Amino acid sequence: MLSYWERESFLSYDYIIIGGGIVGMSTALSLRSRHARASILVLERGLLPTGASTRNAGFACIGSLTEILDDLHTMTPDEVVRLVALRRSGLQRLRERLGDEAIGYAECGSYELITEGEVAALDHLYEVNELLKPLLGSEAFSRCDEKVHPFGLGSAVRHLIRNNHEGQLHTGRAMRALIDLCLSQRIEIKTGAEVAGIEDCADHAAVTVGHPHLDMQVVYRAGQVAICTNAFTQNLVPDLDLQPGRGQVLVTKPISGLRIRGVFHFDHGYYYFREVDGRILFGGGRRLDIDGERTDTFAHTDLILSDLRAKLASIILPDTPFEIDYTWSGIMAFGSDKAPIIRRYSRHICLGVRMGGMGVAIGSEVGEQLALLMVAKAP
Ligand SMILES: Cc1cc2nc3c(=O)[nH]c(=O)nc-3n(C[C@H](O)[C@H](O)[C@H](O)COP(=O)(O)OP(=O)(O)OC[C@H]3O[C@@H](n4cnc5c(N)ncnc54)[C@H](O)[C@@H]3O)c2cc1C
Repeated sequence: MLSYWERESFLSYDYIIIGGGIVGMSTALSLRSRHARASILVLERGLLPTGASTRNAGFACIGSLTEILDDLHTMTPDEVVRLVALRRSGLQRLRERLGDEAIGYAECGSYELITEGEVAALDHLYEVNELLKPLLGSEAFSRCDEKVHPFGLGSAVRHLIRNNHEGQLHTGRAMRALIDLCLSQRIEIKTGAEVAGIEDCADHAAVTVGHPHLDMQVVYRAGQVAICTNAFTQNLVPDLDLQPGRGQVLVTKPISGLRIRGVFHFDHGYYYFREVDGRILFGGGRRLDIDGERTDTFAHTDLILSDLRAKLASIILPDTPFEIDYTWSGIMAFGSDKAPIIRRYSRHICLGVRMGGMGVAIGSEVGEQLALLMVAKAP
């Protein structure tokens, strides 16, 4: 049983946010900017955030040329522009909120490798630039073949396209800074607090968390609750158009004389690599086993890691010896529609989930829109 004091002073909040990734923390900060005195609690199941926000590649990206061309097959041009705008405003919000230095933001260049199979994409460069120019104010993409050689890329790389509006950040420092800002703004964060269930009641939402030491369940209550559990949302809200998608990543040991600088994509955004502290961080390959990678289990597979190793040796570092230091994985969320789900679920519960491979970019803006929904309350 909980004590009288615990029941009186520990269970009620104005706002509860479930999930302590970039979206959850950003939502908490956007709520705080509107309600200086509100009590705000973030419940995170892991000791650390345990989804994608501390396990990604740190690309501050608005999309590569081939990725945007793919989007134009499934979305209208207006929808494509809206998604790029969301990425851009999310990045601006993140940078303004935390400062470039704190998040290790740098514009070292962003490039897409074009192999023989993708050369046709170059024919659409002008048209995509024209589509995005009203939003970006200048050309999104430009040809940059002269850099293939200085970067030491493999012979399969026929062309290089520069994205003129992308940067990179240090994922660890950015999430650390976000959490520190929450703490400094009296946002309470409980880690190791896995939400087992959520129920909309007459005048509040009830959020149930297991208390292993007392062998019981604790029920928190709040006027408004946000679900920011991204790939893990099906456990709380079944029947959403949302599937998990695992991303596997490796990092090399430091490489002397590394010539690569900036962030790079290839194969329609399915592979991505960057330089970090003199190492190469490289991830992707989900497309090799889409069904197998539709999982929320953190693990790596020989199929994908051997593919990453082979591409590292042939495309990224063809003339440079390297050693892989270690690997990890993170879990994203995808759906039939590429846009995130930001909506009211019931009278006291809102959703901000399905960030795809764009959460670093869009997460802060999604948090802002979600906070606005929560503050507006249900009609
Ligand atoms: C390998 C990889 C590379 C990526 N690279 C980039 C990139 O370069 N640029 C980019 O923009 N995006 C990138 N992404 C995508 C980006 O990381 C995600 O879109 C973003 O982090 C999602 O943030 P989130 O807060 O919605 O979800 P998450 O970070 O997954 O946070 C959800 C949190 O909810 C918690 N949780 C889940 N269930 C419960 C529960 N029942 N109770 C309590 N807590 C719970 C989880 O532990 C987790 O911490 C990448 C992702 C991966 C995996």
